[in-house]
Amino acid sequence: MTPLPVRPAPLPDETVASLAARTAVSNHLHPNQLGLPRTGGLRGEQRAAAHLAQLLDLPHEQLSASMLSAYPPVLRGTGPRQQRTWLHPRSEWACPRCTQSSGVIRRRWQLSLHPLCLACPSLLTMTGAGPRAEPVTEPPDTAATHAQRLIAQGLDPERLHAAGAHRRFADLYRLCELVAASADNEWPHLPGWEHDLRAGLTHARTDWSHRPPATPGQAAIIVLECGRALADTAHRRRLTGEAIERLDDRNDDLARALVRRHGHGTSPPSERTQPSTPSSRTQPVLATLTRSIQRLHRSRGIQPRHIPAWPVDPADPLVPTRERRQELERRAVLLHILLSGRWHDPGAEAHARDELGIPSRVRRRGSLTDGAIDAMRAAHVLRTAEQLVAHGLIDHHGLRQRLNSPRGLLAAVRRRVPALPATSDDVLATWCRLHQSPGPAQEATLAAVRTFDQALDPEQRLHLLEAAGSYLDDVDPPAPLAVQHAHGTEHRTA
Ligand SMILES: [Zn+2]
Repeated sequence: MTPLPVRPAPLPDETVASLAARTAVSNHLHPNQLGLPRTGGLRGEQRAAAHLAQLLDLPHEQLSASMLSAYPPVLRGTGPRQQRTWLHPRSEWACPRCTQSSGVIRRRWQLSLHPLCLACPSLLTMTGAGPRAEPVTEPPDTAATHAQRLIAQGLDPERLHAAGAHRRFADLYRLCELVAASADNEWPHLPGWEHDLRAGLTHARTDWSHRPPATPGQAAIIVLECGRALADTAHRRRLTGEAIERLDDRNDDLARALVRRHGHGTSPPSERTQPSTPSSRTQPVLATLTRSIQRLHRSRGIQPRHIPAWPVDPADPLVPTRERRQELERRAVLLHILLSGRWHDPGAEAHARDELGIPSRVRRRGSLTDGAIDAMRAAHVLRTAEQLVAHGLIDHHGLRQRLNSPRGLLAAVRRRVPALPATSDDVLATWCRLHQSPGPAQEATLAAVRTFDQALDPEQRLHLLEAAGSYLDDVDPPAPLAVQHAHGTEHRTA
């Protein structure tokens, strides 16, 4: 095949169709005259890329790198199976300014996680859609473009196939699905431009259970907020918790399915950890609490290993105050003992503290008589258990074991996030732990962690969280826990 006289160079992340259209225009041809297959999904795209490479006298690999099929399945599905992946179902998205002037369409615009053009910036539009398909908006503000940039970073070629990348795209979809289902015109709270965009939309897509939305506006009002939430643990907890609360009030199939999927892990209750059965002599408040915890254990699968040493609230800062930490530890210990079924075992408190990694205090031994549980404390403990369930059960025991010897973690995060503010290994390891499985540390270290956290910019914070998360996903916990992983947990299967 003879190469064409005018051969435009492919631009970064340009789709095969976009390059074909520009090639045709440069050679004064109609795109059909290039003889490229125009249908056939991802296979058709491969044939088109091979043919176009010949017309442009380019190595085939140069075009195949920017084919949709070069994306991993979590983004574009496999063959006809595209449920709950990011490829948007209908016509192409294009930039109202950049595509207008250059004809270029980027590959990432074919994913519902990328509704903005970051170059100009603009909200993308659907090609072929009438002018009224979406509201005309002001250019996106910095909150929106920053959120889009955070999401887009994961699409960079060197990060796309890095460990943990696929899980993050799947996580983002799950969160979007949940938030879209419970969203309305007031919730979630959105920054200015996204808020105005939402107000201008006549129809917001709430059901993402099969496919992401087809229009850039519908995607933008959900995906940007969810992208921000994934970069910030407290934000994510708050958004997930509020969404589940809103869905809990509803009684349709979609809501029930989502609450089931997000509200608790998939672990079946373990035979070994039946909570104690209250007897007629058990103090009434404790008896009621034990029964409620048993119910959660049976229906939602919560077990002692799902308890972090500090079961923080979404509103808690990274380093809670000393009094707050003591209170959180008390709740964790009580809940651990109740779930272990060892209330009347004199060694139970020491065992729970040991398992949770909370230093033991000899003077407190024996403090857990039945009378130690008043109605207020019982309510706190039950609320803690309910929140752990609502935010998705995580194998904190496994995380603690992996975080206990942080050498590999430190090497991984320092390698992947090079320009960090100067800090000691101890502080960096503690920072990672407070995000992954909050728990005790020396007072001086906690003060330094707070300083370090304040010195991070949002992008560094995101990179650090990603690096730590993907490292922890990739290392196996020490052997004794391997069996429990057969059950899967929210953390591992997310
Ligand atoms: Zn643009």
